[in-house]
Amino acid sequence: MAQVPEPSPPQAAADLPCVRLDLAGFITDWNDEAARFFGYRADEVIGQHLLFLNLQEDGDLTELSGLPPDADSVTAIVFRRTKAGQATKARLSLQAERDAAGEPVGLCARYEPLRIDIPLEDKLRLYVNIIEDSSQGVLVTDHTGHIVMVNRAFTDITGYSADEAIGQTPDLLRSGRHDAEFRAQVQSAMQGAGLWIGEIMGRRKNGEVFPQSVCVSAVRNDRGEVTHAFSIFSDISHHHETELRLQRLANFDHVTNLPNRLLLTQLMTQALAQAKRSGECGAVLVLHLHRLSWVYDTFGHDVGDEYVAQAAHRLQGGLREQDILARLGHDKLAVTLINMRQPEHAAVVAQKLLAQLGTSLSVQGHELDAPATIGIALYPGNGMETAGLLRYAEIACQRADPEAETPVIFFSEEMNQKATERFRLEGELRHAISQGQLELFHQPKVSLRNGHIVGAEALLRWNHPRHGLLTPGHFVPLAEDTSLILELGEWVLAEACRQIMMWRSTGLDMPPLAVNLSARQFDRHLPKRIERLLDSFRVSPQHLKLEITESLMVRNPDEVVQIMNELAAMGLGIALDDFGTGYSSLAYLKRFPITTLKIDRSFVIGVPHQPNDCAIAQAIVTMGKQLRQEIVAEGVENREQMHYLRELGCDQLQGYLFSKPLPAHEYERLVREDVRLTL
Ligand code: C2E
Ligand code: MG
Ligand code: MG
Repeated sequence: MAQVPEPSPPQAAADLPCVRLDLAGFITDWNDEAARFFGYRADEVIGQHLLFLNLQEDGDLTELSGLPPDADSVTAIVFRRTKAGQATKARLSLQAERDAAGEPVGLCARYEPLRIDIPLEDKLRLYVNIIEDSSQGVLVTDHTGHIVMVNRAFTDITGYSADEAIGQTPDLLRSGRHDAEFRAQVQSAMQGAGLWIGEIMGRRKNGEVFPQSVCVSAVRNDRGEVTHAFSIFSDISHHHETELRLQRLANFDHVTNLPNRLLLTQLMTQALAQAKRSGECGAVLVLHLHRLSWVYDTFGHDVGDEYVAQAAHRLQGGLREQDILARLGHDKLAVTLINMRQPEHAAVVAQKLLAQLGTSLSVQGHELDAPATIGIALYPGNGMETAGLLRYAEIACQRADPEAETPVIFFSEEMNQKATERFRLEGELRHAISQGQLELFHQPKVSLRNGHIVGAEALLRWNHPRHGLLTPGHFVPLAEDTSLILELGEWVLAEACRQIMMWRSTGLDMPPLAVNLSARQFDRHLPKRIERLLDSFRVSPQHLKLEITESLMVRNPDEVVQIMNELAAMGLGIALDDFGTGYSSLAYLKRFPITTLKIDRSFVIGVPHQPNDCAIAQAIVTMGKQLRQEIVAEGVENREQMHYLRELGCDQLQGYLFSKPLPAHEYERLVREDVRLTL
């Protein structure tokens, strides 16, 4: 540190920090100003060597060595350290103190504090270097919001060079992850509302989205006008990744990657809170993998881990997106079924899960089967509390027998009985087709103009060996829950075509036959399948009609309208069944190529006495007429209803008034004998 001799300014000595020293340089006196300037009290420094105030340990000149032996005083600019560790600058004037004989007895050092000044040019260079070398990205915009400066870290973090960034707006880094309100907050900080500090998701040049910790503010000129804004940011994706990793470790099972008990409990508690508000029902299933311990013991950890991971993967494949599969413990998994339509569906899902594990797992060259049992607790039936439901499902799981035909047990006995009955029926239904137990009944539709039979609806019946003749209400919903409905539907279509062919082959001129379709049958291959059937039975499309329900149209209108257009183009008539009970709007009706509207029986029951039903029936007829659709009233049981509906303008009637659904030969006889409805 250089000592620059400077002329001593006139200063009142008492105002200045002043230190007295003996000839060896030890402090003997220390005034109040010195205490204020250096931060040390007198008692802390008296007796110490003056050297301890020096900024550098090494050869910095002390006040002592600065005084030439023959001179009385000298001045210099010096740098010293305060008690707080801060560097200070002062003009030092050092004076020899002599006794009466003129012999030097000590020294007096006075310090005039000076500001540490860096020339503007140096300062600018300093700032530029600091900004340029900073590991934080810096971006500066002008008052129009365009980028005018970025630093090296900006380029390192974002991938944009200065040339690419300058002239653009900060939107260059926009990830699209923030809403308008959030962006407005940042924007207003840039416009001078004050410092904004927070986290923003940015987007790098390579498209990658990354989290950044950002501080944004504005720069003003002397008149207080905002001239620039700046943003200083650091890439914190690393922190986020660590955080995420920690979160994963705490919440997920590392073998299966499934949520663990902790996370499941949280998720379930949320789902239950939501269910309490909405009144939804749901279930918790606990699944026990019976062989897992044995697999670990026999084949070791690698095989054991892969076995459970594969099993988990299979199970996941049998679930909907909103269902939660978790690993509860070593050989226990859990599934939460949220928002179920009916509690019995839990058993259907359980069956499906067991079916997923039905074929053996192939693990590192070993073919291993995966027997499992499932216990089910239902909410709200068994309670609305997470821990309780999990416990009940675990208890039920312990009771389930892996050797049983259906190794699924409900916590509540009543549900067990229902489920058992259902499983039995489902098992029997699987064989109903091959055992020839299914039959189509036919219910005539008659014209309200002349009373003639103008068509019929094919209605499915199951000749059950124990229960007798079953109507679809007993088994179609069950089939809908499994893929059985597809087999049933195919059988019905084929049987209807076969029947039409038989009638034609005997020379009978039978009116068209309508078949009910389940929404599940309605996929893009349906037109081709029907075309093939028509071809193979040599049936013309005019003889077959299709009945669909409104729910189908609401589900996926774009796809459905296309399939329906294909069917209509083939020449098939399409009837909208149970009309008025679903959600159809006029807009829907206009879009779909519907030829017939069937007024649901629930409205027909009330006519002509219930004003509401009359109004609905009337509205449907008016609407159908507008859209040039044929209108059929379903479930007409008496003449009063018939008269009313006829007056309204319905075209046809179907119902017990004319005939119940009949076996094919009886219906055939009605047509053959030209039996008519007396109008
Ligand atoms: P749907 O298509 O609306 O059939 C009309 C139902 O009303 C039939 O019941 C029929 O027997 C009954 N019905 C007709 N006239 C009267 C009447 O005057 N009074 C009363 N009380 N009932 C009458 P069914 O045969 O039990 O069929 C019920 C539902 O099952 C059908 O309703 C249809 O949605 C469905 N279904 C029937 N066959 C099949 C099929 O082959 N495939 C599919 N997917 N569903 C079918
Ligand atoms: Mg129908
Ligand atoms: Mg109907």
